[in-house]
Amino acid sequence: MKTIIEPFRVKAVEPIRMTTREYREEVLKKAGFNLFLVDAKDVLIDLLTDSGTGAMSSEQWAGIMRGDESYAGADSYHRFYNRLHDLTGFDHILPTHQGRASERILFEVVGGEGKIVPNNNHFDTTRANVEHSGAKAVDLVIEEGRSPKSRHPFKGNMDIEKLEALFEEVGPEKIPLVMVTITNNSGGGQPVSLENIRAIRRVCDEYKKPFFLDACRFSENAYFIKRREAGQGDRSINGIVREIFDLADGATISAKKDGLVNIGGVLMFRDDVLAQNARNLLILTEGFPTYGGLAGRDLEAMAQGFEEVTHEDYLQYRIRSTEYLGEKLLAAGIGIVEPPGGHAIYIDAKEFCPHIPQEQFPGQAVVCAFYRHAGIRAVEIGSLMFGYGGNKPAMELVRLAIPRRVYTQSHIDYVIEAIIEVFEKRKELKGYEIVEEPPHLRHFTARLREL
Ligand SMILES: *Cc1c(COP(=O)(O)O)cnc(C)c1O
Repeated sequence: MKTIIEPFRVKAVEPIRMTTREYREEVLKKAGFNLFLVDAKDVLIDLLTDSGTGAMSSEQWAGIMRGDESYAGADSYHRFYNRLHDLTGFDHILPTHQGRASERILFEVVGGEGKIVPNNNHFDTTRANVEHSGAKAVDLVIEEGRSPKSRHPFKGNMDIEKLEALFEEVGPEKIPLVMVTITNNSGGGQPVSLENIRAIRRVCDEYKKPFFLDACRFSENAYFIKRREAGQGDRSINGIVREIFDLADGATISAKKDGLVNIGGVLMFRDDVLAQNARNLLILTEGFPTYGGLAGRDLEAMAQGFEEVTHEDYLQYRIRSTEYLGEKLLAAGIGIVEPPGGHAIYIDAKEFCPHIPQEQFPGQAVVCAFYRHAGIRAVEIGSLMFGYGGNKPAMELVRLAIPRRVYTQSHIDYVIEAIIEVFEKRKELKGYEIVEEPPHLRHFTARLREL
């Protein structure tokens, strides 16, 4: 069959509130043309992020009722532990409230002044936690990973020569661990190959250093390996996932992605000493090690989510629907980061509206136009987010992140149609200027004016 159907039926529905263009125009003005300041009820299709925005299954909701809320040693913890132990093989599995809590604890244990942490691309919270510990975060993604049009099948790969050169240059004592992000979120949701993960393992063995995964989208990455990597096509997703984790010494996960839950995180170790140090910090700020800042019901939802996310029909639907959106935009002549990543499509806003100079936020112009025209919420990743303190980002992107199991094909078709209509009238888009901004992370709260 040519048509890939959503591998689920709908049991509960959440109405979308329809709005008019005139109403949205007012909303935009009130929000200072910043979509972070728009209320969710005024959005038709919300593609702001894929983090914590997914739909849970009936089995996950059943788990919510089953949640054992005992302070210590709850049944829900054991179900959570057993699922993650089967999936990853790690012995030490700590629940946390979300990914950045895992990162904060990990880098408080291994980071510190003078240390250097390599990654393919640090996600922003990972970088912030590395730097908060006093260490330096270094990105070593391959050249193709920096080029939006390169069709390399594993653009998230780490440059192994650069990794070895870093060890030689600064000395292994300064590098507490090597981390790799699967899929590479900051690089457009691009996967890392199994071959590359094995090569990183070899380098870590050579210098006797632990290898950690930022494994938020481990299952999407495993599906790309199955589809694209030679010799992997006949393997099960669970088999590939297990091999990836077997190659590592630990991992941080935000369960808001491939955990298929709205809140939750995981921190895992092989080493007893590292795990004990992390457990002590967990107790200090998150909670007792059998709940880690979550309710028993959240652990149930994660145990089930980490099971469902490796189902191949789910992954086929997931990766294909993102790819479908990307292909239709490309066919209409709209430039995107290629090939489509796992969780999002990134539109090249410089190409979309070449008449708007970088100082006038072409990405934000596109974001506002999508909302005004069709009530779609996307996010700018360009000058508004990064272009201050003398910074000029190389790319002006607009990210359309796809929540898991939330929207159907007709929603995606609506998005495609709306974007193409905006593209046809792109010459009418105007630039923006900032009228109010905070000193840090300005994209969250800045207010703008249309020029
Ligand atoms: C989302 C994310 C994180 C942080 O997780 P939170 O749950 O948002 O704290 C870390 N790394 C990557 C790659 C992510 O996508």
